Amino acid sequence: MKKIAVVGTGYVGLVTGTCFAETGNNVTCVDIDERKVEQMRQGVVPIYEPHLDVIFERNIKANRIKFTTNLEEAVEEAEIIFLALPTPPGEDGSADLSYVLGVAETLGKIIKEYKVIVDKSTVPVGTAELVTEAVAKHANVPFAVVSNPEFLREGFAVDDFLNPDRVVIGTEDEKAKQIMTELYKPFIRDGHPLIIMDEKSAELTKYAANSFLATKITFMNEISNFCEKVGADVDMVRKGIGSDSRIGHKFLYPGIGFGGSCFPKDVSALLKSGKAVDYHFEIIDAVLRVNEGQKTSTVDKLVSYYGDLSGYTFALWGLAFKPDTDDIREAPALYIIEKLLQQRAKIKAYDPEAMENVKALLGDKIEFVDNQYDALEGAEALLIATEWGAFRNPDFDKMKELLATPTIFDGRNIFELDRMETEGFYYSSMGRKTIV
Ligand code: NAD
Repeated sequence: MKKIAVVGTGYVGLVTGTCFAETGNNVTCVDIDERKVEQMRQGVVPIYEPHLDVIFERNIKANRIKFTTNLEEAVEEAEIIFLALPTPPGEDGSADLSYVLGVAETLGKIIKEYKVIVDKSTVPVGTAELVTEAVAKHANVPFAVVSNPEFLREGFAVDDFLNPDRVVIGTEDEKAKQIMTELYKPFIRDGHPLIIMDEKSAELTKYAANSFLATKITFMNEISNFCEKVGADVDMVRKGIGSDSRIGHKFLYPGIGFGGSCFPKDVSALLKSGKAVDYHFEIIDAVLRVNEGQKTSTVDKLVSYYGDLSGYTFALWGLAFKPDTDDIREAPALYIIEKLLQQRAKIKAYDPEAMENVKALLGDKIEFVDNQYDALEGAEALLIATEWGAFRNPDFDKMKELLATPTIFDGRNIFELDRMETEGFYYSSMGRKTIV
């Protein structure tokens, strides 16, 4: 059993804390958001993340996890302190380290014995050094700073954390290596590796992983755009190349671009880190540019179909940046909404989990409805921005009754072309022929 403090109880911090409690450790979660801490004390999970509620409840009952706004109290008891703080993009695209370094400086003032300070936030190369400096400003006890990037995916966060493909530990401190290895032992029982490296390599591993995945998505989006021009079918091309074991089937699905709280900011931050040392990442630069256009490509299709969009009402299925999350950070749907509003179109939107977050952002600029079918009533066409499972097998007859015309612009390719032909929809999707 280890005593752990997790500072920052968002998607990463709460999953990290809960999963460490699940493996028998004693965890204190710290957050500055009093409302959130109060909610968690009441046993309410403040985010939507499948399966988190079950282990959250179990570990509260077992007294292995508690919640506080008091950093000092949490740190005093803990041997390991995880920083799971935001690293949002600054104005120039580089990662804003003020949360991480701010807490690091405070830690320096309050630690009274050896602590392992673990950076779980995604941070640029060299941050462990900056954290060490910030803590050392005030600390007069030894401490170790470890880079332990997190690779979980929202929507699969609990499973990813409990069964990671790998755990990356960046430290040259021998005692910290041993403590971190013991802590992660239960998670790598099935033989997945725990890879120990230096801090800088660990920090870069996270950016390289996310940038590679964003590149894979973007590459496929370009192939998809080209398919539309030349009449090829991206589904066939996807299967054709995915069968090559060097390429693999994952992350080859075309769509309306990548979003979320990680890919856009991490790819921009890597580009920025390159600039800082006079290195220009050509590929990364192109990935960001292509993705920008991809996010609103469906609106471009609407414009070429309808011309002037003013006065039209469109139904929008999906607001979250991907299914099984309520996270709307950098969600392509938001860019679609912005562009449609610029064109003076009206929007009726539905999302199973993300509507409250979008309401808080947009207020009454668009109409929110209680279920996917209500969005269709009187709408000219349906736009699909997120591939929620509940959208995949709808009542097509009901859809045809409710829509003004049976027309779908699908940014996620959730329907089979044959089916749409049989059902009699006008169906425009990504990288496949349009059913008219
Ligand atoms: P988040 O915004 O969901 O959570 C951050 C939490 O930190 C919030 O609850 C906030 O109130 C709290 N906080 C802010 N300042 C604080 C302070 N001074 N003291 C205590 N708490 C404070 O962020 P997130 O999505 O969990 O991401 C955290 C980090 O993990 C980021 O660097 C992100 O890039 C990285 N990451 C995120 C994911 C993901 O899927 N969300 C995956 C891997 C890595």
